Amino acid sequence: MSALEGKLVLVTGASRGIGHGISLELARQGATVAGTATSAEAAARLEAELQALCGRGLGLVVNVNDAAACTGLVESLQAKAGRIYGLVNNAGVTRDNLLLRMKDAEWDEIMQTNLRPVFVLARAVLRDMVKAREGRIVNITSVSGQMGNAGQSNYAAAKAGVEGFTRSLAREVGSRGVTVNCVAPGFIDTDMTRALPEAVREGLLSHVPLGRLGKVQEVAACVAFLLGTGAAYVTGSTLDVNGGLHMR
Ligand code: NAP
Repeated sequence: MSALEGKLVLVTGASRGIGHGISLELARQGATVAGTATSAEAAARLEAELQALCGRGLGLVVNVNDAAACTGLVESLQAKAGRIYGLVNNAGVTRDNLLLRMKDAEWDEIMQTNLRPVFVLARAVLRDMVKAREGRIVNITSVSGQMGNAGQSNYAAAKAGVEGFTRSLAREVGSRGVTVNCVAPGFIDTDMTRALPEAVREGLLSHVPLGRLGKVQEVAACVAFLLGTGAAYVTGSTLDVNGGLHMR
């Protein structure tokens, strides 16, 4: 029996890209996945895909910018499906600009989408986890938050913030059997990197020892590891999935 058999895991931003890959991998490993999308159509599509794959799973609608909606989502999921074992904070966006040109709105949107929901959702799931003396939180950060990236001061600040948040929370709740970790992807083949100009993509790849973009499945496998029994003694850590782009 897989370690994730019968466990309920909430994954944000599960409609596309890395979050979609994570949802399918966790479902394959036996978890009941509740994945979020920002539209009802995408949520229904995800739910149908999960059901076809394993006969379990939910597609839910949330905009993580809306703190009350995030809290409501957790409460309604708990009422419908029981205790949440795992939370994967994956939803994220970029609003790149050089700092001198960066608008307040571009800064604020990144903080509201990439940083604040990590706190809001962790707080919402934590009470049940602490009571059960069992739980896993995995936050998706980025190599940009570790190395910095010109044009991404907002995004890098938010992702570095999530890593600091992760380490602090890991210290708070370790004694209660809850682990909190990050997975930090490098450049992964998703809509986010497809939006980059070809020359920028090529330039980035020249710094990647493995010489290619990562696949969503390669990030998903690391998230599944951190949710599984093999990672029971791993907390406050960041697992880098970057093809060697950044070595610490
Ligand atoms: P993506 O393909 O652009 O997908 C983003 C996901 O986040 C979608 O499911 C999207 O939902 C959801 N989302 C966006 N804004 C949201 C909001 N306000 N509320 C709720 N959901 C929202 O991105 P990705 O490349 O898979 O990235 C996933 C995570 O990995 C992000 O945290 C990103 O920062 C991180 N990351 C990615 C890379 C990379 O190279 N791709 C590298 C490092 C880190 P909709 O479909 O409804 O828009």
